[in-house]
Amino acid sequence: MIIAVDGTAASGKGTLAKRLASALNLAHLDTGALYRAVAVSALDAGFTASDISAQAAENIAQNLDLSLTESARIRTPEAGEMASVVAAVPEVRSALLNLQRQFATTPPEGRDGAILDGRDIATVVLPEAEVKFFVDARAEIRAERRHKELINAGHEVMLRDILTSLKERDHRDQNRDHAPLKPAQDSIMVDTSDVDVDGMVAFALSHIEGSRTGG
Ligand code: C5P
Repeated sequence: MIIAVDGTAASGKGTLAKRLASALNLAHLDTGALYRAVAVSALDAGFTASDISAQAAENIAQNLDLSLTESARIRTPEAGEMASVVAAVPEVRSALLNLQRQFATTPPEGRDGAILDGRDIATVVLPEAEVKFFVDARAEIRAERRHKELINAGHEVMLRDILTSLKERDHRDQNRDHAPLKPAQDSIMVDTSDVDVDGMVAFALSHIEGSRTGG
């Protein structure tokens, strides 16, 4: 089984994907980590979000050190901002596309399929996915959650700065020309503003069960 999870920044899509992966024995790929790895490589090379060229971003994506996806350095607000800038470059997206599709079609042995989370999984990467979720929550709630995560990870960040940067990132992701953030026609909308993690997972599992039984 292949499941696509898309959604806004800090909406809970990663948590949903991880929980569904473990409940359904699926391999999980956080595709945002790929764009964040490109971003960290670009920052390491001395570029900033306002001066990186499309050509430089493409070169970095084509020679990406995948071990960076495991690094805590990709989780900073700066890396998130740079990720959404490089993610708007079509050549960067193309460079990462096959890797994502291959992960979905040939998941590690012993798994019953794959679940990928990102921004364009249902619309571009895996339009054939059997179940598609689009996760969102009110911006203030998402900012509070991300703020808590970053503080717990030892970063000194202000809630209002996080809110501003989440809104900017969503705006950039939703309005880019290539593979913008949007639900697919057959995506199931999941609003996580007023539900806890268990409630969100139960809601998604009931839809997956329904799709398996043809309901
Ligand atoms: O999900 P996460 O916040 O880690 O993603 C970082 C950035 O990577 C997003 O703001 C978006 O610009 C980009 N991204 C994307 N397509 C994906 C996953 C992430 O454009 N499938």
